[in-house]
Amino acid sequence: MKIRIDHIKHTPYELHVEQPFEVFPVLARMQADGECIFTGPVSADITIEREFDHLKAVGRLQVPISLTCGRCLVTYASAIDSTFRIIFRKETARHSEVEDETELCDDDLIASTYSGDELDLAHEIEEQVAMEVPLKPLCEEGCKGLCPTCGADLNMGSCTCSQEPVNLKFSALKDFKISR
Ligand SMILES: [Zn+2]
Ligand SMILES: [Zn+2]
Repeated sequence: MKIRIDHIKHTPYELHVEQPFEVFPVLARMQADGECIFTGPVSADITIEREFDHLKAVGRLQVPISLTCGRCLVTYASAIDSTFRIIFRKETARHSEVEDETELCDDDLIASTYSGDELDLAHEIEEQVAMEVPLKPLCEEGCKGLCPTCGADLNMGSCTCSQEPVNLKFSALKDFKISR
């Protein structure tokens, strides 16, 4: 995923990238930690162009993933589909990090640096994917989760324990049940 800087002339340089997740250390670690499973390659369409004193990479990346719902524990297929904009400035000794931060006022924009005569997109791509993987995945917005008592999937219908709080009001009935 390295691009020679001198290939980027005055016209935008376009490239299509398709790489297995194993190529990206951050993503390989996420899968090893069980945060998600990458079910296909990371693919991205990127356009790089010169702009003022820097290089600008604009692109869209997609990767199919499999997530485990945080409420009902079901595994479901999902996908990351995200657009990004990265500004690459040539790394120089006088360019302090503080300066970088004050310049970065646009949330949507990632600022990075390059050195030598190559631009390496791998790290920016994996960071972008990592940022988009949900921390608390839900199979659907209104997932009812599992019953904390019997473990039944409440999306499939209510279990018998869900009536218990009502029964507890009738202590006589509760005692009757226990004595049986
Ligand atoms: Zn769920
Ligand atoms: Zn239950």
